[in-house]
Amino acid sequence: MIRGNFLLPVLLLAGLLLSNRAFAQPTESTRLFERMVEQVTAQEEALIALRHDIHRHPEVSGEEERTAGLVAEHLTALGFDVRTGVGGHGVVAVLEGNRPGAIVAFRADMDAVPSTAEDPVEYRSVIPGVRHICGHDVHTTVGVGLAEGFAAVKDDLPGSVMLIFQPAEERGIGANAMLAEGAFDTITPEAIFALHTAPYNVGTVATVAGGMMSGRASIAVTVRGAGDLIEAASTVREAIEGVGTHPPQMAGMIAPKGFIMVNLFPQRGTAGGNIVIQGQIMAAGYEDRARAKAAVLDTLKALDLPGITLETAYNERFMEGVNNDAALVNLANSGIQALAPTVGIETVSGAVPAFSEDFGSFQARVPGVMYFLGVSNPETGTVGMPHSPTYVADDGSILVGTHAMLAAMLTRMMNN
Ligand SMILES: [Zn+2]
Repeated sequence: MIRGNFLLPVLLLAGLLLSNRAFAQPTESTRLFERMVEQVTAQEEALIALRHDIHRHPEVSGEEERTAGLVAEHLTALGFDVRTGVGGHGVVAVLEGNRPGAIVAFRADMDAVPSTAEDPVEYRSVIPGVRHICGHDVHTTVGVGLAEGFAAVKDDLPGSVMLIFQPAEERGIGANAMLAEGAFDTITPEAIFALHTAPYNVGTVATVAGGMMSGRASIAVTVRGAGDLIEAASTVREAIEGVGTHPPQMAGMIAPKGFIMVNLFPQRGTAGGNIVIQGQIMAAGYEDRARAKAAVLDTLKALDLPGITLETAYNERFMEGVNNDAALVNLANSGIQALAPTVGIETVSGAVPAFSEDFGSFQARVPGVMYFLGVSNPETGTVGMPHSPTYVADDGSILVGTHAMLAAMLTRMMNN
């Protein structure tokens, strides 16, 4: 009987504490977020000027010295602890807050792409044959925008921020090079985010839980023996190709979940008379990649080829794709909705089969989410389809991306 009387005030008190906690947190994040946005908004013109400067002076994979120098200078001035020359021209910058919270990273890639097509913007590239047609100038500028925002609230920052400026993404080697040279050794982030420009309209970001860009496995099958090698090689090719759920020439940009795409190169014979079949097998998330590997190896094992031996080399992690952590997608999306409600959030309807990204190398170490950042502008008629000759990323995407990432990162920092 006492219990009943006792329980009610306890429940009321617990309810009060819980509701206080529930209200206190959004208020505090809102207050911090508004201060960050105020600083970033004040810096908008400077950020656009920085983006145009980087765009005018594009540097291909491995040669990002000038871009990295600009970034390091800005971040040092903002009070970040800056390490340069990590895995090539990589920059790792850390800002430690004064209050407890998670360590959250953002990765921007810095390299440009060879392109001889005319650059349609006023701030056109002055380097012949090189252009930012993948939007890495925007990613880098957003990284500096984040530095501006977080530095403005350093004394009240819950947790720490790590900004990673990566070289050589277009060659798919920069992320691994940075990790091999200890990007995460001194401080390991608990979550990591990234953006990639995409032909959504400016004002929008988009993501999906699980596989968002295909990872690539490499395969090499050596066919040898006393039997009919040509016949055997053709059987092996057909068997591997049969594992694919889509023909190699996929029409659309987006493939449904669960796709496996097989792309075998023209085969070649070796000096010893053997035939080698090589290629790549693309699938989106880790599960699909494991499924593809098992299917290929089981299929090859089941082949009945008298007098023939097959030697298979299968590298499942030839190139990491983008594989977003589901819980982090939910948390980050809710943070963006609550703090930056003007940013539209779309769900990517499937994985992009033909494009890949080495951001997945970071995601293989810590939970991470990549967002597509809308950079197309129907009013000006410009479209931001990466690697297309007419690629244009609207300047308005810089603040959209910065706001979205500030919201996502702050939310994760405070949910520790
Ligand atoms: Zn890119």
